[in-house]
Amino acid sequence: MADSTTSAAARLGHIDTWVFDLDNTLYPAACNLFHQVDQRIGAFVSRLLALPADQARVVQKGYLAKYGTTLRGLMVEHRLDPVEYLNFVHDIDVTPVPPNPVLDGALARLPGRKLVFTNGTVRHAERVMERLGVGHHFEAVFDIHAADYVPKPEPAIYDQLLTRHAIDPRAAILFEDIARNLKPAHDRGMATAWVKVDWAWAQPGDDMEHVHHVIEDLTEWLVDAADLRAGLPAPPRD
Ligand SMILES: [Mg+2]
Repeated sequence: MADSTTSAAARLGHIDTWVFDLDNTLYPAACNLFHQVDQRIGAFVSRLLALPADQARVVQKGYLAKYGTTLRGLMVEHRLDPVEYLNFVHDIDVTPVPPNPVLDGALARLPGRKLVFTNGTVRHAERVMERLGVGHHFEAVFDIHAADYVPKPEPAIYDQLLTRHAIDPRAAILFEDIARNLKPAHDRGMATAWVKVDWAWAQPGDDMEHVHHVIEDLTEWLVDAADLRAGLPAPPRD
């Protein structure tokens, strides 16, 4: 699964399309934006179904477990308009995301196309990337609207992503903090890179054979990758 930086570089030489998950991948999980989204999902469910907060939370988490997202459950069981829901739950404060000029520099030096592939919305991605200062590197955001409201890791939406943006999977890599979301990418011939987060190192029983690269710090890793692509030696890291 994991590999050294040098062999990782050798395995990146063919990459010309860099695909990034957004939340907890392009910015650190410590920013905890999901906590805000989670609270707003609860408030939305409470209002929609006229339930007190504690009962709404049970419904929210029940749909998440049964359908993959709370949104999917609300659409299937309550014919919810997804646009209203998505606008509401992503109306959050993105200032916990710090500007990241080092990431900006690494993305500038990496040759090839860059895209975002998110279970959130284009608007949310644009707000976050504006905070990071990296939005100008990305030619497109493939979001939950583009995926007809079916979230990763549904395999069919990976095909939609590849087709819509004319991506050759054998020359593409996906970066993700949720390891299981890498499996359909691997199955389609993409390289895969898992950005580790403390609270979800891996699910018990996860098969990790589909993870090609393990990343502790995405920014550092991309700086090294850009150096190696440019023929520069990577500095030693502890
Ligand atoms: Mg994520």
